[in-house]
Amino acid sequence: MQVNLLKTVVSSIAGQQASPIVDLLHDKKNVNEFLIAKKLKLTINQTRNILYKLGDEGIVSFTRKKDRKKGGWYIYFWTLNTGKGLIKFRDHLLGSLDGMKAQLNKRKTEKFFHCPNCQIESNEENALQYQYTCPECGEVMQLKDKGKEVENLEKEIAKLEGILAGVNQEIEVISKKEESVKQRKIRAEARKKSKERALKKKKKEREMKKGKKKVKKAKKKSFTASSFKSKLKKFLRR
Ligand SMILES: [Zn+2]
Repeated sequence: MQVNLLKTVVSSIAGQQASPIVDLLHDKKNVNEFLIAKKLKLTINQTRNILYKLGDEGIVSFTRKKDRKKGGWYIYFWTLNTGKGLIKFRDHLLGSLDGMKAQLNKRKTEKFFHCPNCQIESNEENALQYQYTCPECGEVMQLKDKGKEVENLEKEIAKLEGILAGVNQEIEVISKKEESVKQRKIRAEARKKSKERALKKKKKEREMKKGKKKVKKAKKKSFTASSFKSKLKKFLRR
């Protein structure tokens, strides 16, 4: 997975200071959290906070071990997730984008009023209820210029959509890889089964041959026994 995309994902979840975690965990497994804290120059609690946030989004997962030296405290070992973790993150991203688009739409279509003294904001319905005066100070409320807010929202949405495109691409790469691994396994399994069938067939054939030989031998034996009997009879008749 691309390190840069992961860094964008990580900092969008846990803030800019969290992005070096990607360098520490990339291509590794079960990294000790104390090592992560030391490398990030953060306290263990700050480090855990970041890792829990990433864990909630499925970006990292942990195993833990009891540390007998530290009186039975748990030490957590962290691993970056791709695949399933990324799918979970995509769901989260889609949810945020939906919310932001709804907000943008509201900002664009509805009127908002604010008090220049208290910065209280209200929608048109509430403003009308107070006859366009501030419920705190009585100042006349002013129509809010939403240009800046709309611009910021649009910027944020564009940024998230960029991340989403990268995440989608990565998920596709991963699922293709998983699919080819699966197909390879299926083919190997089929080869193994046909080999087993061939072996069984050979064994059966061998057993049948042996069986025939036995019958022949038995016939031979019974023949010699009966010839012996007749010889004996002849001998006794003498
Ligand atoms: Zn006011």
